[in-house]
Amino acid sequence: MNIILIGPPGAGKGTQAHRLVAERGMVQLSTGDMLRAARTSGTEMGKQVAAVMDRGELVTDEIVIGLIAEQLDSNADAGFIFDGFPRTLAQADALGELLESKGQSLQAVVEMQVDDDALVKRITGRFTCGECGTGYHDEFKQPAVEGKCDSCGAEGGFKRRPDDNEDALRTRLMAYYKDTSPLIGYYYAKGQLKRIDGLGDIEEVAGRIAGALDG
Ligand code: ADP
Ligand code: ADP
Ligand code: ZN
Repeated sequence: MNIILIGPPGAGKGTQAHRLVAERGMVQLSTGDMLRAARTSGTEMGKQVAAVMDRGELVTDEIVIGLIAEQLDSNADAGFIFDGFPRTLAQADALGELLESKGQSLQAVVEMQVDDDALVKRITGRFTCGECGTGYHDEFKQPAVEGKCDSCGAEGGFKRRPDDNEDALRTRLMAYYKDTSPLIGYYYAKGQLKRIDGLGDIEEVAGRIAGALDG
């Protein structure tokens, strides 16, 4: 089953995608992670998008559609989780066409609803393991041993994102409401939208997503 996780910055898309990978063997395709990897490895494209990302604006449709197109031939028997993609109507159309050209389709679009106050709290406390990408939070999800990643055991390798600051977050929220939220109506009209409450602890939200996918 191929699914989209859609929701504002900090809604918990990456956190829940990681769980679905671990529990169901699905393959996560996060355009945010791919773009950050391009920056770290210093590719031409990575350099081109760095400033745009740090401001919290969207990078061009052409770049992110290209990134997704490159991944769709990967082996994913249990399906793909599109995390942070599509973010515009043009990207949504492109995804539909790409899937169709591979003889595939989309089974569900899960909208994670979280109010702005909670998003600010989640974003400002977010950090991740630099080795394996597991996400943590200062208040809501501390590693069991301070400074050590629960998943891969790496020590002292935690990172914070340059765009997880108040100014960039404001821009990212605007981009979400202006460019991405129209996708909710788009997928609703196609009968694919499942809305879930993204508030509550990580386990609870995981249960709601499972209910939406299996119910
Ligand atoms: P978040 O965790 O806040 O939802 P992401 O990690 O998905 O953010 O994305 C970080 C940044 O990468 C975005 O602010 C944007 O600049 C860029 N980006 C990621 N995915 C897309 C996309 N599908 N379209 C355009 N820009 C994107
Ligand atoms: P997104 O990928 O949508 O931007 P993340 O999955 O990175 O969001 O989550 C943002 C931050 O909030 C992370 O620090 C994560 O640990 C934390 N978080 C995720 N889900 C929850 C939840 N249900 N309750 C509290 N904190 C959460
Ligand atoms: Zn790790």
